[in-house]
Amino acid sequence: MFITKKKISGKEYYYLQKSVREKDKVKSEYVAYLGKDKTDAEKKAEEIKKQLVKNKNQFQETNKKSITIDELAAFCKRKGFVYPSGEIYGGLAGLYDYGHNGLLLKKNFENMWRTYFLGLHENFFEIEASEIMPENVFIASGHLKNFNDIAAKCKKGHIERADHLLEKYLKKRVDGLNAEELFSLIKEQKAVCSQCGSVIDYVGAINMMFPIQLGVGTNVKAYLRPETAQSPYVNFKTEFETTRGKLPLGLALIGRAYRNELSPRNFLLRQRAFTQAELQIFFNPANIHEHEEFDEIKKYILYIVLSSERERGIQHITCEELTKKFQNFIFITWQRSSSFILNN
Ligand SMILES: [Zn+2]
Repeated sequence: MFITKKKISGKEYYYLQKSVREKDKVKSEYVAYLGKDKTDAEKKAEEIKKQLVKNKNQFQETNKKSITIDELAAFCKRKGFVYPSGEIYGGLAGLYDYGHNGLLLKKNFENMWRTYFLGLHENFFEIEASEIMPENVFIASGHLKNFNDIAAKCKKGHIERADHLLEKYLKKRVDGLNAEELFSLIKEQKAVCSQCGSVIDYVGAINMMFPIQLGVGTNVKAYLRPETAQSPYVNFKTEFETTRGKLPLGLALIGRAYRNELSPRNFLLRQRAFTQAELQIFFNPANIHEHEEFDEIKKYILYIVLSSERERGIQHITCEELTKKFQNFIFITWQRSSSFILNN
């Protein structure tokens, strides 16, 4: 920061200015008026500088303070953002209501998401789809067979998630293990039921979807969708025909999804009903090596970790080099980089 002097109608005025970098240029910006006397101005400038440093330190100090997830939940309820659903009648775990402040915030966020993702390409559109879908959709998608939590059951019949139980013993995340592997680890760790301390005698998969009985006296089976992804897939043909009949086609969706979590926890992080935002992009795999706008981003540098070269860590690589390395996966590179460019 520095002091500048300006002469207006023969009188001298002192100002505190600071240098700001804007793209390639350095500009000077007004900070404060320091008066007409040089000595006073210098004194005032020192005070302002000291105060700014103090403010900065205080700001950093406040931001350092961490709070627990329970404190955050209590704060959100107190301020009317979000709180357990049906709480005056006991409520149910994993279900939350948004109060009017919370809904405004959520809508703002959704609109930001919308503007950003739909703005990525002229052929990206938003749809809204039913939250209840026929069983055949989930047979085709594999959800009926594979959308499972692996549960551990104790001798007395208490059920909990096998991976969560093990995490308490191993003090680290347990991912990607099947029921058999989890069961043998549970035995090895001598892990017992979190509720009653009994031995775990069964570990197996439990489907996380909510079944719905549609109509009365019918056998029509349906499910609450466990994620929003299915709708863009099943609506692709209709949307392709009714839009421009052109690829790439992006179908975006913001909506509710439902999962019968065995152990909902961590406030809004693991709920049974929640909002998802999703963009599915459909393209022709035969043309993955071309994209009409690729030249615009080919010099753009992506920071990536390649799964085949994990030991090298983060690499800085231009889109052009990346596509050479991966047999011209230009389409995917374009997609990644254009979202980063927009983001910055
Ligand atoms: Zn038990």
